Amino acid sequence: MNNGRSVLITGASRGIGAAIAKGFAREGYSFVGINYHSDEAGARAVAEEVQANGAHAEIYQADISDSGDCQRLMEQFISDTGKIDVLINNAGGAQTIPAGSFAEMPVEYWDRQIRMNLSCAAYCSRIAIGDMLAKGTQGRIINISSVHSQVTWVKRKALPYCAGKAGMNMFTKALGVEVARHGIRVNCIAPGFIKTQLTTRYTQEQINAFERKIPAGILGRPEDIVPMALLLADEEKARFIVGQTFVIDGGQSIDGAIDSMMYDF
Ligand code: NAP
Repeated sequence: MNNGRSVLITGASRGIGAAIAKGFAREGYSFVGINYHSDEAGARAVAEEVQANGAHAEIYQADISDSGDCQRLMEQFISDTGKIDVLINNAGGAQTIPAGSFAEMPVEYWDRQIRMNLSCAAYCSRIAIGDMLAKGTQGRIINISSVHSQVTWVKRKALPYCAGKAGMNMFTKALGVEVARHGIRVNCIAPGFIKTQLTTRYTQEQINAFERKIPAGILGRPEDIVPMALLLADEEKARFIVGQTFVIDGGQSIDGAIDSMMYDF
């Protein structure tokens, strides 16, 4: 039995976003929107799995680093569903990190990273919140940040990624407080190292070495993020959770484990 609720997930053609899309379909969500950038085939494959679990699925192409694309994406989704119940700002990442020091970093890399890992959440949330307020929807917004919002990743020069994700945590807090009286809940998940295409920059040997340092002794999978996303999306269970960032990392950010992992490579 479907629950009549709609969810839009940015960057859901693979990785964490795809796992969340499938998890929400299994949970009984009625309409699952799958945003992708370039991998239409990946998005279609996720949509098929979502439909196999009884939900309606639609795929939406949009570059979330572009404010105009985000507006088009949100307006199309809301027109297709009638309203938005849950927005998950998942797309992001450090992409190809340029060589050289911070002083040599092209300013275009900084600008795009901040758009990819912070501004995108504002571009999409602004339209979602407008719709939720206009229609009295007790909506949910879930931002996907990173442990690198709290722990630096200096060796890989992912400084703009760290800064963008840290901004996302504070964006979550400030927006969460601003809309709380309307029954809207905004919260954030900060994953640790999760094995996805984003982490293919590492060799298998490096990944095995990471695994040995993780306090839980296991690598994170995209599916490990899904239960928290479902909880934060729930109308009843999340009623008293406002503006928080929840770290899910098997203990990587405790005792400096992630620090030493990042410094080794
Ligand atoms: P991933 O496997 O690389 O997947 C990224 C997804 O985002 C893909 O669906 C991709 O779509 C989409 N995407 C990329 N650029 C986009 C753009 N400009 N516009 C729209 N969609 C775009 O990444 P992931 O590991 O699942 O990461 C998901 C989120 O978790 C990111 O915000 C990342 O920073 C965060 N995170 C990941 C880890 C980790 O270890 N994996 C750790 C902490 C935080 P296309 O395939 O169509 O390009």
